[in-house]
Amino acid sequence: MARIFCVANQKGGVGKTTTTVNLAAGLAKIGQRVLMVDLDPQGNATMGSGIDKRKLELTVYDVLLESAGVAEARVRSDKCGYDVLGANRDLAGAEVELVGVDRRERRLREALGKVSQDYDFVLIDCPPSLSMLTLNGLCSAHGVIVPMQCEYFALEGLTDLVNTIKQVHANLNKDLQIIGLLRVMYDPRITLQQQVSEQLKDHFKDKVFDTVIPRNVRLAEAPSYGLPGVVFDPAARGSQAFVEFAGEMVERIRKM
Ligand code: ADP
Ligand code: MG
Repeated sequence: MARIFCVANQKGGVGKTTTTVNLAAGLAKIGQRVLMVDLDPQGNATMGSGIDKRKLELTVYDVLLESAGVAEARVRSDKCGYDVLGANRDLAGAEVELVGVDRRERRLREALGKVSQDYDFVLIDCPPSLSMLTLNGLCSAHGVIVPMQCEYFALEGLTDLVNTIKQVHANLNKDLQIIGLLRVMYDPRITLQQQVSEQLKDHFKDKVFDTVIPRNVRLAEAPSYGLPGVVFDPAARGSQAFVEFAGEMVERIRKM
């Protein structure tokens, strides 16, 4: 049975997609069977896994509208070592098309249930909003990984996400919990980042992952080559941090 995790934060540009594809590649590297689901119509996680979103015949959109199953719509990224349920601009229409259909927030959950035996991990890259797409992700998951930058308003920005997760937990998905907060794009030379990092640990205690992802230009360059940093430049500091994070995730789920 796969363990399913959403990578979510309603802010854009905080490192969700970078976290999703690099964690997927890191887990694959340590021998885990992984499916990466792109729930963002921008399709960055798809492209960043070496899959051309414009050439996909079936995507997560077809899965949400139940015109295809995951087993038909997934594709293998040979370079990255994991499977991809991709997204492209079609997905932008799903929000409206799902209005009024039944079980609309449970569509992804039901579809993933059918391929659960094929994987150890399913990672879902969420869009920067608390929309019906994100809700489908949250309804499917055992846990949420929240990437965050250690900046001034970081804690305040979390309130809406934490409240949404509580609501989903109470009403739709009893399994859902925050697995952890991942500090990303971290620069230890910046005093403010150290301070916010300490505040995070005071407030969220062991919900803060031990692994810290440094700001690293190789991670930022990798998407233009259609690869996660972990595959593009395994020796880079940021890539090594993500492989370490994959190990920490495997440890955490043993304790769940
Ligand atoms: P989101 O999916 O939350 O919008 P992205 O993962 O696309 O965020 O990251 C936003 C930008 O920051 C991208 O250009 C990405 O390459 C860059 N980035 C993400 N993580 C790092 C990092 N650790 N070091 C350097 N650049 C990063
Ligand atoms: Mg993204």
